[in-house]
Amino acid sequence: MNDTDSRPSHFIRDIILEDNASGKHGGRVHTRFPPEPNGYLHVGHAKSITLNFGLAEEFGGKCNLRFDDTNPTKEETEYVESIIEDVRWLGGDFGGRVFYASDYFQQLYDWAVVLINKGVAYVCDLSSDQVRETRGTLTEPGKNSPYRDRSVEENLDLFARMKAGEFPDGSRTLRAKVDMASPNLNMRDPVMYRILHAEHHRTGDQWCIYPMYDWAHGQCDSIEGITHSICTLEFEDHRPLYDWYLDQLGVFHPQQIEFDRLNLTYTLMSKRKLLQLVQQGIVDGWDDPRIPTLSGMRRRGYSPEGLRNFARNLGVSKTNGITEFEKLEYYVREDLNRTALRVMTVLRPLKLVLTNYPEGQTEMLEAVNNPEDANAGTRQVPFSRELWIEQDDFREEPPKGYHRLYPGNEVRLRYGYIIKCQNALKDPATGRITEIHCTYDPDTRSGQQTRKVKSTIHWVAAATAIPLEVRLYDKLFTVENPNDVPEGQDFTTHINPNSLETVPAKAEPSLANAQPGSRFQFERLGYFCADKSSTAGRLLFNRTVELRDTWAKLQKKS
Ligand code: ATP
Ligand code: MG
Repeated sequence: MNDTDSRPSHFIRDIILEDNASGKHGGRVHTRFPPEPNGYLHVGHAKSITLNFGLAEEFGGKCNLRFDDTNPTKEETEYVESIIEDVRWLGGDFGGRVFYASDYFQQLYDWAVVLINKGVAYVCDLSSDQVRETRGTLTEPGKNSPYRDRSVEENLDLFARMKAGEFPDGSRTLRAKVDMASPNLNMRDPVMYRILHAEHHRTGDQWCIYPMYDWAHGQCDSIEGITHSICTLEFEDHRPLYDWYLDQLGVFHPQQIEFDRLNLTYTLMSKRKLLQLVQQGIVDGWDDPRIPTLSGMRRRGYSPEGLRNFARNLGVSKTNGITEFEKLEYYVREDLNRTALRVMTVLRPLKLVLTNYPEGQTEMLEAVNNPEDANAGTRQVPFSRELWIEQDDFREEPPKGYHRLYPGNEVRLRYGYIIKCQNALKDPATGRITEIHCTYDPDTRSGQQTRKVKSTIHWVAAATAIPLEVRLYDKLFTVENPNDVPEGQDFTTHINPNSLETVPAKAEPSLANAQPGSRFQFERLGYFCADKSSTAGRLLFNRTVELRDTWAKLQKKS
């Protein structure tokens, strides 16, 4: 993760600096990124990845990738593989340290036996409904389970038989004996194990009891020697329980630190809702460029550097907020501006004929590949009598302030000549403009000393143009907060029906060999990325982001 951006300081970094100064962990910094493999990673995870791997790297420490795979019915190998790929793509360096909570199932079981032997865990025969009903509320204490005072021997026997598969799903649980009157509901004899006769994607049918996330998480951190266990704010009131488990076991005690979740306007981040979009076919799979999964953003053309710079500049705090989507686009655009090669492409072509340019003649014009990067060099672009220009760059009746083509007006063709608009041809039946006729001034070739005109437009020579299909994406939701839904409806009510428009376009020949995943600036139009399915025979591009920067403007105003 070697980016040039400075590293903003924040309270978690300060805690680590203090710990290192006091020698708390002997100067060791070991973090982890702990996804549950129940979906693809999204941009919220990018914040956590950037933070965890970034801190490890900054302090010469390590960061593990650990799958919290304690929920066999929702987890799949496909998700594990996609997560590994996405973390790597984003630059998370976990070396060979890919771990799974399921690696520790035996250890967790043995530790549960330790707690039973200490008299602080018991087998409970209440159903999950009964457990919920006796849990109490924020204002009322819970009721002790009638099974709370079972003897150690009976608990050991029943727990072993739970593991051996003697009892049906849901008939019994193992619970921690903490305090049914605790003001913190997480401390009211939480369930540690449930019976679930389900295949696990890694352990198969070896287990029919599974640890609850809260029982597994802190102990997994402890086993791996995690020094700073960084998680999002919703786990703040689980921390006393994690501390309680670790103290009861007397094992290495990582320090949990909570930070704010990333939320973005116009965006849904929950894996459950993303799964619904995928399953209902509202989007084209987990890597649809309209959803905020890392694979979708990759397919759309976001670079890992752009995403990391965004994540790093979000700040880390103790209150959840909402970030403008435009801020993400700002960082994506900033990186692409530095790195993307420029090409000329026309999205909505209109034929333009230079009536005084010799028929059959082609000349090569020199074009700059990236004005931000002198090493990117130049290329030759063919120019001839018939060109494609954007429909938008011609108006029969120019509105006030319009300086592009209209009868009698002059513009410069990018890298080429100054041309003057003479007239437009129309389809007599529809009145639609079919062709523009112009003359060019041979003494105004780009690079020569010449007069100034107010506009420069891009173009593509018709004879050598290559066809391509371009997908223009808009926001998937029509409202800033798609979670906010009227009674009786779900978030799909806010779906934008026009989030995807596909246009047939024309490009200069240099684009013919664009490899899938390569990113370009189409001059004056925005940044575009060759889709994973793009081939030389059928070029397909996704619009990554427009050129216009609304976020920087918003910042200036406020
Ligand atoms: P979701 O609710 O989207 O399913 P999750 O929190 O259940 O997300 P996990 O797989 O458990 O997803 O998350 C792995 C790690 O990423 C956790 O440490 C979690 O705190 C962090 N994380 C998840 N979503 C965000 C977010 N929006 N912003 C910052 N960190 C996040
Ligand atoms: Mg979760």
